Amino acid sequence: AKLDGRNKTCFYDPAMQAELHSRAKLEAGIRHGLENGEFELHYQPQFDAQHRLVGLEALVRWTTASGERVSPGEFIPVAESTGLIRPLGHWILNEACQQLVRWSSHPQLSGIRVSVNISAHQLHEKAFVAEVIEALEQTGTNPALLELELTESLLVRNVEQTIEKMAQLCEKGVRFSLDDFGTGYSSLTYLKRLPLNQLKIDQGFVQDLLTDPNDAAIVRTVVALGESLDLSVIAEGVETQEQREALLGYGCQQFQGYLLGRPMAPVDLEAFVTNLS
Ligand code: C2E
Ligand code: CA
Ligand code: CA
Ligand code: CA
Repeated sequence: AKLDGRNKTCFYDPAMQAELHSRAKLEAGIRHGLENGEFELHYQPQFDAQHRLVGLEALVRWTTASGERVSPGEFIPVAESTGLIRPLGHWILNEACQQLVRWSSHPQLSGIRVSVNISAHQLHEKAFVAEVIEALEQTGTNPALLELELTESLLVRNVEQTIEKMAQLCEKGVRFSLDDFGTGYSSLTYLKRLPLNQLKIDQGFVQDLLTDPNDAAIVRTVVALGESLDLSVIAEGVETQEQREALLGYGCQQFQGYLLGRPMAPVDLEAFVTNLS
C-alpha cells in the first residue's frame, strides 16, 4: 500500500494538473465567449514624425461574463493551440472591417488604416485569402485601409504558399506589416520577395534603446533595411519622449506606444482623436 501511495505522488503533479485545468477552462471559456459576444477590439494609435495619426492597431480584448479580464498574451496561445484562433480570428477580421466602415465618414478617422494581427494558423489555412476578401466585400471595406500584421515565425513555413497568398491580397490593395521584427529568423532573401509595406521594430529593442548599444545597433540596422527595401518602419512600445527622440535620430518615422496613446475602445478613441492636433 505504501508503494502505491508513493507511485501516486510520483504521477500526480499539482502544477501540471492546474495548467491542464486552466487550459481546458480557457478553451471552454473562449468558445463560450465567442458565442456570447465577450470579445471586443481596442485600437492603439500610430503616429508619424509630425505627430499625425497614420494608423491604428486592433488588439483583441476579452471580458468574461463574470467581469474578469483575460489578457491576449494568455488566451491567444491557447486559441492557437486548440484551433479556436480560426473562429476568433474570423470574428476579429470582420469586426475590424465593420469598424473601418463605421469610421468611413468620421471627421478624424476616415481614411486611417487599421492593422489586424494574423496568427500563423490563420494564414496557413487554405481558405485564408478567400476569408479576407469575403470580409472586405461583405462589409464594403476599402482594402487599402486594411493592413495585416504577420510575425516572422510565420514565414519560415510554406514560404512559397505564403508569398502567393500575400501577393493575392496585395493585388486587392491590402497592406502587410512584419511584426516583432528582429526577434525571428527571417532570411533577408525571403524578406525581399515578400510583398511587404512595413517593418515593425519589436518593443524589446525600444525598451533598452538608450542603455543597450546592441539594441541601438539593431534599430539602426532595421531602419537602414527598411530604406533599402523601400518599406516604412514603425517602432512599437514607445513609452518615453527620450525613446521617441532616439528613434527619430536613427531615422525611424513612425511610432506606437503608451507615450502616444494606449489601446482604446472605439468610443474612447473617438474622444481621443477629437482632442488631437
Ligand atoms: P503585439 O502584436 O506585439 O501587440 C503589442 C502589445 O504591446 C499589445 O499588448 C499592446 O497593448 C502592448 N503595448 C502597446 N504599447 C505599449 C507600450 O508602450 N509599452 C508596453 N509595455 N506595451 C505596449 P496586448 O494587447 O496585451 O497583446 C499582446 C499580444 O497578443 C500581441 O502582441 C499579439 O501577439 C497578441 N494579440 C493581441 N490582439 C490580437 C489579435 O487580435 N489577434 C491575434 N492573432 N493576436 C493578438
Ligand atoms: Ca502586432
Ligand atoms: Ca509586436
Ligand atoms: Ca534588450
